[in-house]
Amino acid sequence: MTINDINTTLDEGIMQISKWWTCPSGYENLQEEAHVVGKNELLSRASISDQESMYPRESLKAIADAGFGAVTVPAEYGGLDAGFTGFSVLAESFAQYCASSAMCWVMHTAATQTLFESGNEEQRQRYIPGVIKGDVGGLAFSEPATGGHFWNVVSSATRKGDGYLLNADKSFVTSAGEADWYVLCTNYHDAPQEDKLTFLIVHNDQDGIECFPFNAMGLRGNSSGPMKFKDVFVPTENRLGTEGGMNYYNENTVDPLFLLGTASCWVGVAQGALNAAIDSAKKKVHADTGKSVADYQVIRHELAKGQILVDSARSMLYRTAEGLDKCAQEGLPISEHLFPLWQIKTHAADIVIQVTNQALQVSGGKGYLTGQVEKYLRDGRAGAVMGPTNEILREWIGRTLIQVPWFE
Ligand SMILES: Cc1cc2nc3c(=O)[nH]c(=O)nc-3n(C[C@H](O)[C@H](O)[C@H](O)COP(=O)(O)OP(=O)(O)OC[C@H]3O[C@@H](n4cnc5c(N)ncnc54)[C@H](O)[C@@H]3O)c2cc1C
Repeated sequence: MTINDINTTLDEGIMQISKWWTCPSGYENLQEEAHVVGKNELLSRASISDQESMYPRESLKAIADAGFGAVTVPAEYGGLDAGFTGFSVLAESFAQYCASSAMCWVMHTAATQTLFESGNEEQRQRYIPGVIKGDVGGLAFSEPATGGHFWNVVSSATRKGDGYLLNADKSFVTSAGEADWYVLCTNYHDAPQEDKLTFLIVHNDQDGIECFPFNAMGLRGNSSGPMKFKDVFVPTENRLGTEGGMNYYNENTVDPLFLLGTASCWVGVAQGALNAAIDSAKKKVHADTGKSVADYQVIRHELAKGQILVDSARSMLYRTAEGLDKCAQEGLPISEHLFPLWQIKTHAADIVIQVTNQALQVSGGKGYLTGQVEKYLRDGRAGAVMGPTNEILREWIGRTLIQVPWFE
């Protein structure tokens, strides 16, 4: 009897995977809704977006239309108020179907929440309704001069009339040239405090902006190319928070959402690859032996090893997200709880490389052909190089373990 026979003829004796193991309690409906969007909207466009480096605009609109345009924003502003956990569940689910859409959505959500938390009431009223309808935000932080140290930007803005003149080179901006607006991190050197970091909202259609193509191995739809801002005038009403002093929001809003969101994407990509490999192993039958690939014990062990890795990351992911939600509810500063975030981003970005590689192996030559499984591998490889990179995060974790300051 083959695995396929067992699946079709016997219900008894088949262990079902408990929902509580794969979804945090209370988020089951949200997870199901996300999978409906993923199956019906994201999956069908994922390949073409990858092949043609096409920005997943329609998929992002579908996500917004399903009510996920402002998921971390409080309900009184029209948001979903889903917290860190809801955000993580959605990102993981979307990434199983289209990593580019999921990544653009993660950056959009982090940008939106940064605008919401650091902006004033007028700015919230000006931007949040658009976001709910499908406007897309981006984060323009990383610069070529400082690379992976994206919190140490060298660009600057100077005062000009009732606004600022911005000059900045950004190395990677997800949704570059495609987002409606960006939260851009720069320095204002005349700021009174030591921390000169200043956040400006810059619109995509402003004069002085140049975008460059993103031609990468994976995440090919997400347009994460460089952007240049030359003498771009930003009115004072588009400055978020204070002149300088914005590192607080880096540590309490941008980094936590960025780390959790990207980690969620890598868990989703790994699960998506494994699902594709399971499907392939069950369907492929060798005519000579009459056995499917899934009938070989060594293959089942590969699947098991992959799933254990995915679930190790997923457990850490949801425990971290729930812990952060508790901190937020109790008014504790998120910046004092970054340690699990560093670990989960590192672990998820590590395991996605391993699991997508195993999934390709299980899928055989077909897995190597241009298509679903090799795409997961290419997409997932971005995790370790995306900032804070795994090398930087391991250093922060190690420094914390020996109790010396993590940040030099
Ligand atoms: C697909 C993609 C999307 C992105 N989207 C965005 C976005 O929307 N917004 C944004 O602002 N940025 C974005 N980034 C940039 C990202 O967050 C990182 O800043 C960037 O990937 C770091 O790459 P780099 O080549 O500049 O790093 P480099 O600094 O040149 O690093 C090169 C190598 O040196 C290592 N290294 C660097 N510093 C240290 C250190 N202190 N200790 C030990 N090792 C170190 C790195 O780990 C890496 O292995 C994106 C990047 C990618 C790849």
